[in-house]
Amino acid sequence: MKPETLLQQLQHDPDFLKLTLAHPDFLPYASYALHNGTEVQIWDTGVIYFQPEQFGTQDIVLSSGVHGNETAPVELCSELLNKVLAGKLLLTERVLFLFGNPPAINAGVREIQDNLNRLFSGHHSKESGVQSAERERAKKLESYVLKFFNEAPQGLREPKLYDLHTAIRGSRFEKFAVYPFLHGKNWSKSQFEFLKACGANTVLLMQTPASTFSYFAAQSCNAHGFTIELGKARPFGQNDMSRFADAAAAFSALISGGELATTEFNEADFNLYEVRRSIDKTTEAFTLHFADNIENFTTFELGTVLASDASVEYKVEVEGEAIIFPNPKVAIGQRAMLMVKPVSVAGKVS
Ligand SMILES: [Zn+2]
Repeated sequence: MKPETLLQQLQHDPDFLKLTLAHPDFLPYASYALHNGTEVQIWDTGVIYFQPEQFGTQDIVLSSGVHGNETAPVELCSELLNKVLAGKLLLTERVLFLFGNPPAINAGVREIQDNLNRLFSGHHSKESGVQSAERERAKKLESYVLKFFNEAPQGLREPKLYDLHTAIRGSRFEKFAVYPFLHGKNWSKSQFEFLKACGANTVLLMQTPASTFSYFAAQSCNAHGFTIELGKARPFGQNDMSRFADAAAAFSALISGGELATTEFNEADFNLYEVRRSIDKTTEAFTLHFADNIENFTTFELGTVLASDASVEYKVEVEGEAIIFPNPKVAIGQRAMLMVKPVSVAGKVS
């Protein structure tokens, strides 16, 4: 497709997700300006940059569809960005919208070959000679995010990346955020306040580096980066978007200078967890010993057998230990479940 054709199509039907899904592998670079002066640049399929005439100090990446079957965040972002394209929402910040994995979105699957959210911070190139569409995409997404942050004007900036997901299973707490490991830096009060405004007052604080998009943003871009789980994954058209209203309103306000429904940080308003241990699948014999409908953050009695692998049983080791992200279908060698426990951030937040 030629850039001119792309722009004609977008101006005729300002729906960037539609255009992305019609061309899931490639879109050429193209740029134009909206009537309100906002500059629009298409960097690739699923990658669109907006720079309003007047903008503040935040540089905001809104990412969705890193897992192709997690449709609610894709719909939420698509709605926001189409409002910007149609001139109905005037941005007050530079914003980069990303749809992570367009071929997987089209196929209605989490991934085509590789879990895209395990390939960042260089993990896309760790095994030499191994190639996949997701590895290529991870490499490109890293470069787009770096370009976006690096091309910000000089001065004090606030880089942010929110990678929006929905989980495979339900959750005791419908919305929750994963706060990547900060290598000992304090957690951010204002970010906790924003997460709560999104409806995500449950936060999992990570203690180790990861191969996720949000860790990449935090570690390599010095950004506030988060993975935000907005609910349960459902196919397109089957999402009850009213359940995402708080998050949609919060992101809309964030990028357009609207009023955010935040309240001053108070730890009592949050469910905070940290990872106690990560359970990896080491053989094909890996099995979970609880039902598929058991929700994230469920706790079990001490000693309950939760999973087994070829020669090992995983039991509840301490009171209050809860499961999260159990997935026996991951590839061998990958994380099949995290065990988390409640934690306080007193003295470690500013
Ligand atoms: Zn996901």
